[in-house]
Amino acid sequence: MIQVENLYKNYGKIKAVQNLSLVIHPGEIYGFLGPNGAGKTTTIKILTGLLLPTSGKVKVGGFDIVHESKYAKQITSLIPDRPYVYEKLTPIEYLNFLSGIYQLNRHDSQNISLKYLDLFGLMRWKDELIEGFSHGMKQKVVMAGALLTQPKILIIDEPMVGLDPQSAKLVKEIFNQLAKQGLTILLSTHTLDIVEDLCARIGIIRSGELIAEGSLSELRTRAKNSNGNLEEIFLQFTGETDIQKKLEYLNNQTSNINV
Ligand code: ATP
Repeated sequence: MIQVENLYKNYGKIKAVQNLSLVIHPGEIYGFLGPNGAGKTTTIKILTGLLLPTSGKVKVGGFDIVHESKYAKQITSLIPDRPYVYEKLTPIEYLNFLSGIYQLNRHDSQNISLKYLDLFGLMRWKDELIEGFSHGMKQKVVMAGALLTQPKILIIDEPMVGLDPQSAKLVKEIFNQLAKQGLTILLSTHTLDIVEDLCARIGIIRSGELIAEGSLSELRTRAKNSNGNLEEIFLQFTGETDIQKKLEYLNNQTSNINV
């Protein structure tokens, strides 16, 4: 379970997160959406213990992220938007390295590593240096690492970047299965159809504040748009519905320029 209560984060004068409260239950995939600069990454960094809050309370799996961060981190995995991996290692060396850091049982973790490398179609490359891998392949290695530790909490930032459609489908299946097994998942992405497919509840953050939360049908009701897809609803809540007007304005401006 993830519990966030009255969370604030300032960077100097910038109020990146303001009065954010949310609860994500075990077995739930929660879609965390917001325009650029809304405060998603800042929130994710706080949830994963990479950044301290200015104020407020955050508990991950029951552990306070400030005072019990060691325990919170032990049960949390992050899949970041960019695959940070040690390029001079092979996938199997990277996974062994993680297994050592997390003090996992060597035999069990070896089996789990092979299972995920197989699942992600990386067995052929398990002994090749990661530096030669494509972005999507590196992302799959990172995902295997995140799942190797068998976390209770999974935080995912833009999971599908660089993945081919087949891999994206596989990853969605894996997230769904893990949620069914009781994993708590926060999924942050700009790819809204993934959120429509996977997330029972969605939170929309703008300028650091949670401005809407609920199932897609609850958000539709609030937006008074009973047939809208998530993209339309998102644009309504985030005040981006005047894009067409902006484009028309720009077109008029440029057509008035005499060449
Ligand atoms: P995006 O979708 O573009 O990744 P985001 O929702 O993840 O955006 P954040 O990266 O959390 O947004 O940024 C929230 C606000 O905090 C922005 O105004 C950003 O400029 C600011 N910010 C983020 N990191 C820092 C930092 N290290 N120092 C100063 N300001 C920062």
